[in-house]
Amino acid sequence: MIVHALPTQGVRLLLTFGVTPLFAPLFLLVLAGCTQPESADADHWQIEKTFPEEAIAEQVAVGEAEGRAVVVEAVEGEAVEGEAVAGNAFKAGNAFKESHDGSGSLIIRCGMLIDGLEDHPLFQQEVVILDGRIASVRPIADSLPIEHGGHEASVDQGREDIQEDSEAMRDLPVWDARDQTCLPGLINTHVHFDANPEDAADYSVYATRTEEEVLALALANAETTLLSGFTTVRHTGAWFPSTIYKLRDLIEAGVAPGPRIQTAGPYLTIPGGGGDLRFPEIPEEQIPADSQRGIATTPQEFADRAQAAIDAGADFLKVIASGAVFSMGTEPGAPEMTREDIEAVVRVAHEAGLKVTAHVHSDQSGQDAILAGVDSLEHASLLRGASIALAVERGVAFSMDVFNGTYTDTVGREQGYPATFLQRNADTTEAQREVFEKAYRVGVPLLYGTDAGVLPHDMGAWQFGIMVERGMTPMAAIKSATSIAASHMGMGQEVGYIAPGRWADIIVVRDNPLQSIDGLKEIALVMKAGIIVRNN
Ligand SMILES: [Zn+2]
Repeated sequence: MIVHALPTQGVRLLLTFGVTPLFAPLFLLVLAGCTQPESADADHWQIEKTFPEEAIAEQVAVGEAEGRAVVVEAVEGEAVEGEAVAGNAFKAGNAFKESHDGSGSLIIRCGMLIDGLEDHPLFQQEVVILDGRIASVRPIADSLPIEHGGHEASVDQGREDIQEDSEAMRDLPVWDARDQTCLPGLINTHVHFDANPEDAADYSVYATRTEEEVLALALANAETTLLSGFTTVRHTGAWFPSTIYKLRDLIEAGVAPGPRIQTAGPYLTIPGGGGDLRFPEIPEEQIPADSQRGIATTPQEFADRAQAAIDAGADFLKVIASGAVFSMGTEPGAPEMTREDIEAVVRVAHEAGLKVTAHVHSDQSGQDAILAGVDSLEHASLLRGASIALAVERGVAFSMDVFNGTYTDTVGREQGYPATFLQRNADTTEAQREVFEKAYRVGVPLLYGTDAGVLPHDMGAWQFGIMVERGMTPMAAIKSATSIAASHMGMGQEVGYIAPGRWADIIVVRDNPLQSIDGLKEIALVMKAGIIVRNN
């Protein structure tokens, strides 16, 4: 059993039982005082009065016996003390957790603070968080006694020193990370929660998973991503777009743990292109209809598909301009969509105030996409100097997944990925890293993106190392995964920067990541909107 507390729709605890790959439709108990999340269209019950603890335990047992996930939402102070909670260690917390009311209001004291925007860190700072948002960032008062570690924080400690503040602020619990480093929650601008790397060994799995299995997979991957320190992601295309809209909405409603998600909806792709799930060995009738929502052949059809995706809930759009490494019958170096096709999508998206990103490996497709007006490129593996310069001129950002080639070439090879995938991966890995070096040197805005789904979802921070190895400063690499990514996503006022007004999405690491960037692989604490969701 896992327990999370998320601050939406007032103060409450959210208990999630049995988030496993096997789980069936969500099963909700909504207790008094909580509104029912509109997006949770699976089985759910709304209870008008306070639900007795024994009844909660009984429903949990029934749900578990049936292999269902059971989500219990409770108003603070009602179920918190109940049987359903007692005896189960909070995954998210410890002694601090017990005294932390889950309101999203606290103070975190940081030995070093990398705010995500500035080029230099601050030292001995405290971040005051009220209702999930950052209220202030300021030096820790000198009079405060120094305690060791971040695990024994006391709610009493530090209250008296906040004399100048309001009554409410004086009562805030304090999290002590004075021997550690705080950073903004990280942002991964290229993920696919409806896929796992090992799926590449046999893509026919996408034609056989049920809708419930895809949702379970996406929920598990979203949770893993959050616990790895990534509090916001850009979901760059899905073979099961409807499931990802649902996932995004469940997380936003506080019903499921996961990062904030901007999702592109379906891949906009030509028939048989890099975003088409139709493989020769799968009978046509077994191809999930949801995977075919973005397939088009003319500019007008692309415009229609783009509009349909926006109407269905896409936050931005993704075009598959050239062939892909992980698809059947396509070549990464070969253009697929025409410039006119891409222009049609850009027109529809920009009219709706949304951005477009283009999957490109080929140089020609990179140029076409930039000239068609896209806002960013994914991969950009085979771009030549002139196209990189054009990107700078047009302010087009790159999200370059420069680490996963190593994973595919080693673990993927062991797992028996098809030889064509391995060959295309080999053809694009080093080439892409060289493009990355050039792009950084000439000032292309670089968005941190790993292509999670090709890379395991718990390896989100593994790419920082190679970005630094290939020329980035550690601070620039961190900014690509915080303020730069947030600003590109239009979320710069919300996340990616530890500053007043933003959500308190904060991670803590033990080491100094400016000295050892791989320290970001070892997250000590993850906080989303002022709620500690991981602490170890
Ligand atoms: Zn991808």
